[in-house]
Amino acid sequence: MPEDSRSGERTAMVETQIAARGVRNPRVLEVMRKVPRHLFVPPLYQGAAYRDSPLPIGHGQTISQPYIVGLMTELLDVSPGDRVLEVGAGSGYQAAILAELGAHVITIERLPEVAGLARENLQRAGVVGVQVIVGDGTEGYPPGAPYKAILITAGTPEIPDPLLSQLDEGGRLVAPVGSRDIQELIRLEKSGGHITRSTFGGVVFVPLLGRHGWEA
Ligand code: SAH
Repeated sequence: MPEDSRSGERTAMVETQIAARGVRNPRVLEVMRKVPRHLFVPPLYQGAAYRDSPLPIGHGQTISQPYIVGLMTELLDVSPGDRVLEVGAGSGYQAAILAELGAHVITIERLPEVAGLARENLQRAGVVGVQVIVGDGTEGYPPGAPYKAILITAGTPEIPDPLLSQLDEGGRLVAPVGSRDIQELIRLEKSGGHITRSTFGGVVFVPLLGRHGWEA
């Protein structure tokens, strides 16, 4: 990934929006300084790509606010070589961040047009190590299981059972859980057959639509 004219804006984004709010993991901050977020938003919004907000990506979907991407990435605690599943590929930006941390990422998207967009964006940004699959991510993706980390980037009424069973021993699952309009960010950790749950405040995501999510 070569230096580009927006790298100064990314450095500022990381300092003022992400590190300033408590994201500390140096590897997370480093990849967020590196991945060209402006290549993951529609041309109309490229100027706004480093703003402290989510942005529309078309088809009624959004790319998450940079801080939320940083927070979720830190909570997932990904190591190089980990198998990671993302539900809700959207723009592909979150998947790019995880891949740049050295993870093998499978990202599922229910809308074929959006999946195509994610593939294009990832290619344009020169990101390797992401497989974009079209399907209902509430069923997970058994061929790639078990996963060390699972991230749901759409709001869900509860954690879909298939995702819990596809989570590896010692693995982490991060998701916005709540109503269609507002959710709480939660992290589950699977260890010794037990699940521990922690919460990280209120968030707003588009709804997770599917068999184990909201009705489409
Ligand atoms: N992670 C994305 C943002 C995701 S927005 C990024 O970095 O840009 C949420 C996405 O989840 C939308 O694209 C939506 O179409 C998708 N989605 C909703 N329900 C889904 C499901 N059951 N399976 C897969 N994708 C789903």
